[in-house]
Amino acid sequence: MSFPRINIECQKIKNNLEIILKNCKKNNIKVTGITKSFCGEKELAEIFVSSGIDYLGDSRMENLEKLKEFNIPKVLIRIPMKSEAKKVVRLADISLNSEMVTIRELNKAAAEIGVVHKIVLMLELGDLREGILPSNILESVKEIISLKNIYIIGFGVNLTCYGGVIPDPKNLGKLVNIAKYVERETGIKIDVVSGGNSSSYYLLENNQLPKGITNLRIGEAILLGRETAYGNRIKNTYDDAFILDAEIVELKRKPSIPEGEIGMDAFGEKPHFEDKGVIQRAILAIGKQDTDITSMTPLDEKISILGASSDHLILDVTNSKKNYQVGDIISFNVRYSALLKLMTSNYVHKNYF
Ligand SMILES: *Cc1c(COP(=O)(O)O)cnc(C)c1O
Repeated sequence: MSFPRINIECQKIKNNLEIILKNCKKNNIKVTGITKSFCGEKELAEIFVSSGIDYLGDSRMENLEKLKEFNIPKVLIRIPMKSEAKKVVRLADISLNSEMVTIRELNKAAAEIGVVHKIVLMLELGDLREGILPSNILESVKEIISLKNIYIIGFGVNLTCYGGVIPDPKNLGKLVNIAKYVERETGIKIDVVSGGNSSSYYLLENNQLPKGITNLRIGEAILLGRETAYGNRIKNTYDDAFILDAEIVELKRKPSIPEGEIGMDAFGEKPHFEDKGVIQRAILAIGKQDTDITSMTPLDEKISILGASSDHLILDVTNSKKNYQVGDIISFNVRYSALLKLMTSNYVHKNYF
């Protein structure tokens, strides 16, 4: 068996999906299952598809390529690069967009291969990541309607990711109203009103999601059983479908404070230390190249994470009831940022079971 290793319990993810999909279906919300945090790997995408998810969404063309075999509409959820337009129209049925120059490029690329590419126009509603300003909406929509190989199916918003703005009935209500306004003014039919990511899920649970939202794009809530506006657990879901195992390569009693003048660490930061006297320190063979050490928690609650460099993770195991040895495995629960890096790292073995 090879380490470090991330253990992925498929049954738990399946369970989470069923709970979330049921709740969405009950409220007439279609779900775009977001696969980016597991790099679009087939094992999990397969579970998404067989559970009856409506769309698969990913931010990277490389991942959409892996998802090619699944017979379900695929969505590129990062604003496309102009330079990748040809790939986009080939591998994605739908893309989220906010730049006319890119949309024109998609139109050209779609014409070349004889397809109509669908787009969701993203609106800027306060979080200051992607989106056109609502004041420019009519002008943009009119031009898009004139493009023969582009079909606008809806509007979307992304909140919380950059500015931390929480979705609420007010900002999502605005999205719904803009969609209605455009329908009225242009006569086109807007099917998709995509009200955000896992941070919008709490509104659904509290019956506060504005009527007229028809779609959510959900990744983290499915994988980690948590809504992301307030970080609350979602009832009847698992938050431990992913467990990281890493191996102890050194175990020694050493002081808790380094000796000598303290300069910068491997990442250019000046470290500081708490003096706990001599402690039992374990070094694990995993590091910042593979994970985010601020986003993982040892299952042995008596262990604390002291720090890490590129490929060494240093733990204080002094207070643990277990008598660890070199070669033992320490396990961690992971949150989003660690999950993202662990799944992306080529050095971390993926164990689906
Ligand atoms: C990452 C992403 C999502 C999914 O976010 P989660 O918090 O994992 O649900 C949805 N939409 C866009 C545009 C994204 O980039």
